[in-house]
Amino acid sequence: MSARQYTERLQLQQTPFYFYDMDLLRRTLEEALRESSRYGFKVHYALKANFDERIVREIIRTGCGIDCVSGNEVRMAIECGCPASEVVYAGVGKSDKEIRYALQQDIFAFNVESLHELEIINALAGEAGRKARIALRINPNVDPRTHRYISTGQSESKFGISYTEVNAAIASLASLPNVEIVGLHFHVGSQILDMSVFENLCHRVNDIKSWFEEQGIRLRHINLGGGLGVDYYHPDRHPVADFASYFALVNRLLKVDAGQTVHFELGRSLVAQCGELITRVLYNKQTASGTRIAVVDGGMNDLMRPALYQAYHKIENLTSSGPVESYMIVGPICESADVFGRDVELPATGRGDLLSLRTAGAYGMSMASRYNMQDLPGAVYSDRL
Ligand SMILES: *Cc1c(COP(=O)(O)O)cnc(C)c1O
Repeated sequence: MSARQYTERLQLQQTPFYFYDMDLLRRTLEEALRESSRYGFKVHYALKANFDERIVREIIRTGCGIDCVSGNEVRMAIECGCPASEVVYAGVGKSDKEIRYALQQDIFAFNVESLHELEIINALAGEAGRKARIALRINPNVDPRTHRYISTGQSESKFGISYTEVNAAIASLASLPNVEIVGLHFHVGSQILDMSVFENLCHRVNDIKSWFEEQGIRLRHINLGGGLGVDYYHPDRHPVADFASYFALVNRLLKVDAGQTVHFELGRSLVAQCGELITRVLYNKQTASGTRIAVVDGGMNDLMRPALYQAYHKIENLTSSGPVESYMIVGPICESADVFGRDVELPATGRGDLLSLRTAGAYGMSMASRYNMQDLPGAVYSDRL
């Protein structure tokens, strides 16, 4: 049930806050795990999408591993009950301290993003008297056809090992005794709804995989990363991402050898729809040209996606039933980018009304900051109202 079902009780909460529909979260997880397990695929949750502890514990309880991009995320995953053997760790800039910590925890694998990093992990593993399991993150040069800030798999991106350096990586493995290659890793971008992107990725991965195998390297794990998109425009029509088509496509196109496991790292598609940012209207005003403005108490510090990448979030007024008008919805932060929506059609909206920014469970709270010394937003859960 979306926040609208609980408006009366939500009225009493201090705004702004994130509201989480825990039933929808569970339904989404069940669906993702049902569809992936049909083919024996393993799902890791990309923790950076939302590290709210209740959400993370729920996800781990249902049996997902965790995909981390910092040492603190590795710590959080383990503290929330994820076995280290289910933790993978990616990122272009892992510090020595983070690598040492992850080695000590004996995580499942490091997703290594450069030859230089490979050498450093080898050295630090040697110091620690351990052997590091690694997967090479290859940049497959696939266009994800999404916003450029959330594209990660094109040749000029900072992520992964360039396909021009794959041979050098293979050659260096022989001289690095403290790393053991267990697989390949890919992640080409986020909010991908065009399934042909994943088609291209599968074809690319098949080629790269056979190149490794021709060099005599056995790959136990193929990790296709995350990126499956959600419907920001129609959250009620499509509350759960299209896991069935996604996993079926990979099953159809990816060549998997006997004994090889396929992994995924889903972030947005697991948590985006279960979260909403609830904010209260403070003031009304108009621009010189007559544009109606509603100023709300939540801002880009609470939900950065509109300011950062012109992201769309559906905005609803939970408390008004007046005649529909068009509004610009703005936050309190001293930045012109602090606008949640323009030309938003809402029932007459004024002081005290509660607005919901839908589909805010992913990259919402996890990107929140205290810019302008605002308080961080709270969290309210549908099963604990
Ligand atoms: C962010 C990220 C993901 C998750 O991406 P989504 O689009 O949220 O599914 C997966 N893998 C890596 C390496 C990432 O950085």
